[in-house]
Amino acid sequence: MTFYHKIEPAEAYLGLDPVLYQRIAPTPLKDPTLISFSADAGTLLGIDAEASQKRDFVDFVNGSFLPEGIEPYAMCYAGHQFGFYVPRLGDGRAVNLGLLNGWHLQLKGAGVTRYSRSGDGRAVLRSSIREYLMSEAMHGLGIATTRALALIGSQEPVRRERMERGAIVLRMSPSWIRFGSFEYCYYNRKRAPDNLRALAEYTIADSFPHLAGDPDRYFKMFAEVVADTARLIAQWQAVGFNHGVMNTDNMSIASLTIDYGPYAFLDDYDLDYICNHTDVEGRYSFGNQPYVAEWNLSKLMEALAPLVDTDRTTRVLFGFRKIYQREMMGLMRAKLGLVEKLDEDKALIEDLYVLMQAQPVDYTFFFRRLSHYGGDREEMLSLVQMRKPLEAWLDRYEMRLEKERIPRHERHRMMQKTNPKYVLKNYILQEAIDAAEQGDYRLVNDLLDIAHDPFAEHPAFEAYAGPTPLRHKNLRLSCSS
Ligand code: AMP
Ligand code: MG
Repeated sequence: MTFYHKIEPAEAYLGLDPVLYQRIAPTPLKDPTLISFSADAGTLLGIDAEASQKRDFVDFVNGSFLPEGIEPYAMCYAGHQFGFYVPRLGDGRAVNLGLLNGWHLQLKGAGVTRYSRSGDGRAVLRSSIREYLMSEAMHGLGIATTRALALIGSQEPVRRERMERGAIVLRMSPSWIRFGSFEYCYYNRKRAPDNLRALAEYTIADSFPHLAGDPDRYFKMFAEVVADTARLIAQWQAVGFNHGVMNTDNMSIASLTIDYGPYAFLDDYDLDYICNHTDVEGRYSFGNQPYVAEWNLSKLMEALAPLVDTDRTTRVLFGFRKIYQREMMGLMRAKLGLVEKLDEDKALIEDLYVLMQAQPVDYTFFFRRLSHYGGDREEMLSLVQMRKPLEAWLDRYEMRLEKERIPRHERHRMMQKTNPKYVLKNYILQEAIDAAEQGDYRLVNDLLDIAHDPFAEHPAFEAYAGPTPLRHKNLRLSCSS
């Protein structure tokens, strides 16, 4: 039996009110070819590289081969986009196939649906490469995310600012429910009063099964989303990831990083960095992400108000900052190789960030080099323009390290497992995109290997581990995808 026959229809979701989805088959692309297969994601589904080489696999990802029993559908949701409520969004270019080993499979770029609005239902190769690689890269970094199994390209022309080619990513997630899914039910509750509760029950069964039957389950679900979102955002901040479009429809109820658009990893550390060039006000700037997450949670809280007492959820939401700060503290201690927990650490950490904010310092490279730091000052000082503040900080850091009990080599080993050597910065992705648009997919696949193991040495790609070259620094990306 092949894996195709093990895919089950998403019966529980399709049992909800049909206003919450549209049954629709994918619209295949012309002349599809497999660009990349993630064997690592494949193991989760029982699909190996050999299976991915068969013709039916490309057809499967293209949506032209629909194994028997599959009931494809697009999901409806709403959301606050840049602060404003949009009453109906939904999968405008994604078609869900069903469940395999607990993963909801979805084809992104598979044609128009009822939720496409003016869109063409397609995704271009450029944005698909970005989504595909970053889904796997975040996982490699140990950050909760949706995954990507495969990427196909095609000859189908798709119009954006210029003519491009259509592509499809097979995405997989334990859940595709968004904060905006609840908002849709909440704002339509006059017409369909039962949908909010039904969606909450569905979500609890699907993503919070340990809460099933608990009389206080809606409250507890919200409390978990608050805590897990705080943890997720702390991880983004610690690694220097800017999502770029933190609308409530791009916030996962399972607290996963979801919907990769104009995201970026920081080049130089900068709280004010904005990766999305349509975000003129910087609502979704790097430094705003924790605040935006909190605001988005408040929108989820409002949507859950008919189910849970708002006094209680408000109190939980007030706890967001504490959880975030605690989480951040733990992650930063790990980045600095501090095992002991001392009160003085907070100031040590904050002062390092003040120092980095004040001048251009490549964020990833700085911490990676610190992960090898054995007292050779010049190695660190050569990374900054203003040496004095860093010198003073290193004095304090060295004094602090004396209070650690683990040997230096052990600390370095730990730090090198926390501070990635490689993050897929935008200029690196762009090189892979440029080659892929010329039909050369090698770099996409090489970057996939790096994405899966970003803490290791990849000698052939040493150049990508250095500070971002000046001409490529702090680019801004368009939302168009
Ligand atoms: P995003 O910014 O990618 O999260 O998308 C926001 C909304 O626009 C979602 O409802 C998408 O499904 C929809 N959308 C984005 N691009 C397209 C497209 N090319 N065709 C149809 N719908 C789209
Ligand atoms: Mg989205």
